[in-house]
Amino acid sequence: MSDAIGRREFLQSVAVMAAATRAGAQTPSNEWGTPVLDIHLHPRATVEGNLLHIDGSGVTKAVLLTGAAAEERAKQTVAAYPARFVRFASIDMTQPNAIDYLRKAAQGGAMGFGEIKSQVAAAGPEMQRLFALGAELNLPITMHFQEVNQPNSPGTFNTGLKQFDAMLKKFPKTTFIGHADAFWANVSAEYAEDTSYPTGPIKPGGVTDKFLGDYPNLYADMSANSGNNFLNRDPEFAAAFLVRHQNKLMFGSDCSCTDGRGAGGRGASAGRCIARATLTMLKKLAPPDVFKKIVWENGNRLLKI
Ligand SMILES: [Zn+2]
Ligand SMILES: [Zn+2]
Repeated sequence: MSDAIGRREFLQSVAVMAAATRAGAQTPSNEWGTPVLDIHLHPRATVEGNLLHIDGSGVTKAVLLTGAAAEERAKQTVAAYPARFVRFASIDMTQPNAIDYLRKAAQGGAMGFGEIKSQVAAAGPEMQRLFALGAELNLPITMHFQEVNQPNSPGTFNTGLKQFDAMLKKFPKTTFIGHADAFWANVSAEYAEDTSYPTGPIKPGGVTDKFLGDYPNLYADMSANSGNNFLNRDPEFAAAFLVRHQNKLMFGSDCSCTDGRGAGGRGASAGRCIARATLTMLKKLAPPDVFKKIVWENGNRLLKI
């Protein structure tokens, strides 16, 4: 067999597979009773790997939160499945070229910035330059707030959530999307920043609850173990919270499993698909119209997609 024939056969088989997948991709499952937007998915090693997770978890469309190393792959995924994916761009804000990089990424089609996970104060000068860029370009910023070192996420990131109202006030034209353990633990008023995933009843009056109520430019990303832990630790409180902030909350997974059904997951996704776990809990706790807002409408409105 010549190389030419081998290549032709290979390309034909790729085309057949792609066509079969696209045919399926146009009719995503509707097992959640509404279309679903996952606003927090990190790019997989291949274009088809991205599709595998959203098809498996019953997700209609996903936002690929993309670091610089994965940018080409994310672009290829959006190009291959424009109805199923959009992308955000992210970089470590301590890099000297961070703002230039993000500006170029936005010109190249990134719909937002994130997740931004930098080892700086959330109100530091690097972050304030980003907040100004977000306002200038009218693009949202997903931020990872972490105050406690974790084996799966060593260090602290964007510290100082309890005082972040100063930034929400200073940058009223910037759209912030909060995420990660400090963001969700701070729904409870007594959070002492000593543990990542506090359990037990929530004490009303935490800064996350207050800021969501007070600042129209703050939204919430419910992904990861942090969002899931919040829903599970005090379901009665969570149910009222979902109604209270029904126009501000957005479902996301941050899942590391491969198939949208729990295979190959690490950390909080070990043995389960966290997309499925959180969608199941949201469906249980929220009235149907609120569920639809959280898993579909709010994100589509915010991202204008
Ligand atoms: Zn994160
Ligand atoms: Zn999963």
